[in-house]
Amino acid sequence: MKSLMKIGLAAAGVMTLAACAYNETLGRNQLLFVSQDQMAQLASSAWTDLKKQEPTTNDPKYVNRVNRVAPKIIRAAGGNPAEWEVKVFKSDQINAFALPGGKIGIYTGILDLMANDAQIAAVMGHEVAHVNFNHSGERYSQTAAAQTALGVGAAAAGSSQVGSSAIQALGLGAQYGVLLPFSRKHELEADKFGVRYMARAGYDPNEAVKFWEKMAAQKNGAPPEFLSTHPSDATRIAQLKKEIALLNSGS
Ligand SMILES: [Zn+2]
Repeated sequence: MKSLMKIGLAAAGVMTLAACAYNETLGRNQLLFVSQDQMAQLASSAWTDLKKQEPTTNDPKYVNRVNRVAPKIIRAAGGNPAEWEVKVFKSDQINAFALPGGKIGIYTGILDLMANDAQIAAVMGHEVAHVNFNHSGERYSQTAAAQTALGVGAAAAGSSQVGSSAIQALGLGAQYGVLLPFSRKHELEADKFGVRYMARAGYDPNEAVKFWEKMAAQKNGAPPEFLSTHPSDATRIAQLKKEIALLNSGS
């Protein structure tokens, strides 16, 4: 059993070496063997499905707020608002998400909790950061690497799963990667860069802290996307305050 594990890990190691890219902005290596464009292709069908499954709303009470904030955040994050699609989903869920290829979904449930545009900007900044840093691609790659390791192990054991290869792992389908929960590290990165985007767009970053504090007091029902992988509320809020202090000192 031990030697099989080793073979699996060695195979994953080879993929890791081949696919690790240093991201200057994040200051760390990312395991990526899918590009932003490849992830965007995968996400496009997931996005179409979501829009079919969940009702969207054109209620100006929500849409006007979102359309006022989204372009500013997208521009502040270096993107072109015309290339992004933002939809308001009619649901009491306290949630928001973004998909590769520039899709943002935000629920009426979370918008009802947002006291002002700056709080919308805080969540949008967070979501746009996930997309900009291809966090989905990274989750997808990590999952594929784990699958490959298992596949190689099974093959070595003489099972019929000889075909399990990196290529097969990459064909996992849109439900992997596109909708995988982010890691704690990803959540903290999205918070960190999200608050920079909102400040750059002219919103008061302190509203991000107020909003996350409100969210922390709000944990009933299913966890929202950004609470799902549990950076503790204290960790998250402490990091945001640190980041805001850095922004205020002009660095
Ligand atoms: Zn998140």
